[in-house]
Amino acid sequence: MTDDLPHGTARTTVGDVGRELLERELTTGTGGNVSHRCADGETVAVSPSGVPYGDVTPERVPLVTLDGEQVTGGLDASSETPIHTALYRRRDDVGGVVHTHSPYASTFATLGESIPASHYLIAVAGDEVPVAGYARPGSEELAELAAETMGADYDACLLQNHGTLAVGETAEAALEVASMVEYCARIHYQAISVGEPIVLPDEEVAHLRSMFEGYGQR
Ligand SMILES: [Zn+2]
Repeated sequence: MTDDLPHGTARTTVGDVGRELLERELTTGTGGNVSHRCADGETVAVSPSGVPYGDVTPERVPLVTLDGEQVTGGLDASSETPIHTALYRRRDDVGGVVHTHSPYASTFATLGESIPASHYLIAVAGDEVPVAGYARPGSEELAELAAETMGADYDACLLQNHGTLAVGETAEAALEVASMVEYCARIHYQAISVGEPIVLPDEEVAHLRSMFEGYGQR
């Protein structure tokens, strides 16, 4: 069905992953956004701004260049497009980006606190989930802060007073990372509510991290 649509596969993926964000309760309404790098490596399919995920058909998914310039007519790309393109420009290993306002991770983001390795699954994202300092949503400054915080080693970070950001080889893989971040945030929140969590040693987290390389790939 999407054979004739330019970059139809990537645009279909963006809609599917957006609906999965709602399904997994990682976001509500039109919140959060999803992107997937197209097969040419230089074009990115990004979820449209302000459209409920249920209404996102492949032909309505905007395409942008790596510099964030929109190349399709119709709907505007997400206002957080700068954050997505900043990550694709810096990291060749990134083929998908997911941004959410998932509640437990956003709680730590609001405290300005990183999520430590209190559950082994944190290794899907890094040795912790670090926090990028506050900058206004949709700004180039936020894109820079987030890309710097992720560096080459982290597959997720929190955005202070805002939400989460996750990357993967595909948008589906980024979704899995975002799900794990929310799960680990929830477990850490529960653990500190009733006691003092045991944080795994650095060597163990490094080992787990190598085990999880390419997590979420089919
Ligand atoms: Zn947001």
